[in-house]
Amino acid sequence: MDSITNIKQEAAKCVACGLCLPHCPTYNLLQDEAESPRGRLCLMLALARDDLPLNAKLESHLARCLNCRACEKVCPSYVAFGLALDSTRALIESRRVDAGLPASKSTSLIEWLVEKPARMQRLGIILRLYQWTGLQWLLRTTRVLRLLGLASLDADIPRLAPRKHLAEFHPAIDKSKERVILFTGCQADMADQSALASSIRLLKQLEYQVHVPPGQGCCGALHLHAGHRGKAIELMQGNIKAFTEGNEAIVCVASGCTATLGEYNKYLNGDERAAGFSARIKDINQFLTSVNWPKNIAFDPLPRRIVVHNPCTLTHVLRQEDKPYDLLARIPGAEIFPLPENSLCCGAAGAYHLTQTQIARQLRDPKIAHLRRLAPDILVTSNPGCATFLAAGLRAAGLAIEVLHPVTLLARQLKI
Ligand code: SF4
Ligand code: SF4
Repeated sequence: MDSITNIKQEAAKCVACGLCLPHCPTYNLLQDEAESPRGRLCLMLALARDDLPLNAKLESHLARCLNCRACEKVCPSYVAFGLALDSTRALIESRRVDAGLPASKSTSLIEWLVEKPARMQRLGIILRLYQWTGLQWLLRTTRVLRLLGLASLDADIPRLAPRKHLAEFHPAIDKSKERVILFTGCQADMADQSALASSIRLLKQLEYQVHVPPGQGCCGALHLHAGHRGKAIELMQGNIKAFTEGNEAIVCVASGCTATLGEYNKYLNGDERAAGFSARIKDINQFLTSVNWPKNIAFDPLPRRIVVHNPCTLTHVLRQEDKPYDLLARIPGAEIFPLPENSLCCGAAGAYHLTQTQIARQLRDPKIAHLRRLAPDILVTSNPGCATFLAAGLRAAGLAIEVLHPVTLLARQLKI
């Protein structure tokens, strides 16, 4: 279905009841109807019908939407807000091209980087050299970064561990039960390889052979949410091709990627391969809590306080937010509790924290304040983007709270 039809169809479902308003982070923060789901749907419809021209004000209201989909989860009319927003952003981009204007987003460089795994790997090498040679320390202490206006970007870069090559096949421990396929994703592969290694370790203990198909790439989320639908679809088709063999579950470690992979069928509707692909997608927490565990698997006790952050993609899109709690309950002695106001986005939201930095930080601030008050030992979250952004906030606040993926913590406690 084309963008205009999607927008009109979804906006027509809205009965303007306003039930979504208290759940919208930008409406809560800015107290402006145009920054609410209901207001944005009106703007999208007006644009699709040509009742309003494309202008900077309209674009900025839509650009400030986090695409967190908290509104979609509570909507009694089942408005597919994410689909309407992605379609509107695609429409905006096509109108800009028609008018001979440049692309509206400042994410072009990031999109270019994630398009090819080799580019991300090269970026990883450059960032590691920057951190390990002392150049980062030098630029920070001499305040050069501040003078160049790069201090805030630098502060968000996580400390990178050495990158290890991931083999394509990982045999099960003991007897082999079944195959499972791992989607690595560009961000997890660069910034959180420990979550990938931990997932493989746990799956092997659960008697699965783990396959990591070559040829897989970025899930396409960044392009899709920026309105660059043509490139997003190209990336989707590349992944479908890379995973054609077999029909086993495709397990993903980053909930942001999982959410997009699970909706390929929406964007490639009518394509049977896309429907089959999306049906195989499972979040790692969801997969690990759905399978039988051999009786001999045990975990070392961990008498620590662990706060769980629920990423929007896990909560509002995949609706699997209870699964990390179920998994971590296997660790004896751990005190596990949710981060307050967990249903409100932390501000990371893909590239949002780079394009709407001020709002993103205003949304992150209450999370950091809760963490300061609760003083846990560990914060767990299932999305590397949220982990990186929250960890940067904790560093800036001087709080020594470790940030981990739930599977990293679980694998660390494995008793073997
Ligand atoms: S909850 Fe749904 S129907 Fe009600 S105003 Fe929000 S989007 Fe419209
Ligand atoms: S997606 Fe999130 S930020 Fe955007 S309108 Fe819905 S609740 Fe608000």
